[in-house]
Amino acid sequence: MAKNIGLGVLPPEQACSDANCPFHGSLPVRGQVITGKVVSDRMMGTVVVERNYLHFVRKYNRYEKRSSRIHAHNPPCLQAKVGDDVKIAECRPLSKTTTFVVVEVQRL
Ligand SMILES: [Zn+2]
Repeated sequence: MAKNIGLGVLPPEQACSDANCPFHGSLPVRGQVITGKVVSDRMMGTVVVERNYLHFVRKYNRYEKRSSRIHAHNPPCLQAKVGDDVKIAECRPLSKTTTFVVVEVQRL
């Protein structure tokens, strides 16, 4: 049975036995919640999520496009793939570069 992680996201249909799954393991999420697109799923259990945003440059009175890439843990019950729009939530550091976990895959 999936836990309520307190973010108002739908729990995954499958179960998993990953200790670092916020729904079926013991990984608390707190802090930022970000939506982005998966640009790489080639790591084991981790995906790269890209976020595009606009930054205002006052000198030219215009916006410039910026992007950032965030590594996020991909629990086996969610199985996010390249091209998926995902919601990721901040968690404790899971590795040197991973401090986010995928909490919802928005498939249409
Ligand atoms: Zn799970």
